[in-house]
Amino acid sequence: MFRIHIYRLCNDKDYEMYIGSTRQKIKNRLWGHFTIANTGSKRLISKHIRDIGKDHFYIQVLQIKFVRNRVEQFKAEQRWKNIFNASLNVLNCYVTKEQKNERVKIYQIKNKEKIASRSKEQGPSYREKNKEVISERRKNYYQLNKEKEKSMHEEYVKNNRQKIRDYDNSWRIKNKDRLNDKRKVKITCECGSIIRKSDKSKHLKSNKHALYYSI
Ligand SMILES: [Zn+2]
Repeated sequence: MFRIHIYRLCNDKDYEMYIGSTRQKIKNRLWGHFTIANTGSKRLISKHIRDIGKDHFYIQVLQIKFVRNRVEQFKAEQRWKNIFNASLNVLNCYVTKEQKNERVKIYQIKNKEKIASRSKEQGPSYREKNKEVISERRKNYYQLNKEKEKSMHEEYVKNNRQKIRDYDNSWRIKNKDRLNDKRKVKITCECGSIIRKSDKSKHLKSNKHALYYSI
C-alpha cells in the first residue's frame, strides 16, 4: 500500500493540461517536471514547459489516494483522465515512459490471445495499409477535441475561479523567495549598464540606453 497524489499540471497560457500521478510530494513532482524539461527532454510535456516557460505552470492536486500497486495507481489516474475526457488525454495529457510501459503491459496481459493470433497473420498490418486515412482521421479528431477541451477548460475555470485563484496565491506565497531571487538576477545590457533582468524591457526604453545608441 502506498500513497499517491493524482494531479493536473496546468498553465495560464493555453488550454493544454497534463494529468499524472506520483508517490512524491506534489512540490517535488512539479520540480521534477521542470528539471526534466531543463534537460531538453523530447517529451511533449517537457517541450511544452520550455515553450511556455515554467513560471506559467502550476500543479493542482485532484486526489490523494492509497493504492496497492502500479495497476491500481494507473486506474485511479485514468478515472481522472476520464473526468476530463479520456480521449483528450491520449492527445493532450502526455504520459511518462513508465506509464506508457505500464499501459502496454496491461494491454498485453488483457489481450494475450488476440496478440498471439495477430502475430501469426502475414502481410502488412491495418495500420500500414491505411496510413493516410489514419493520419487524416487523427487530425480531425484532434481538431474536434481541441474545441471540446477548450470549452471544458473554460467551464472548469468558470466553476473553480476562486479555487484556482487561491491556489495561485498560495503558490506565489510559498515560492516568494525563489521568485524574488529570480527577479534580482543582474545582467549587463549591450549599452554597458548593469540592470536587473526583470527590468530589461523598462531599461530598453530609458534615456540612458537610448543615449548609448545616439552617440
Ligand atoms: Zn542598455
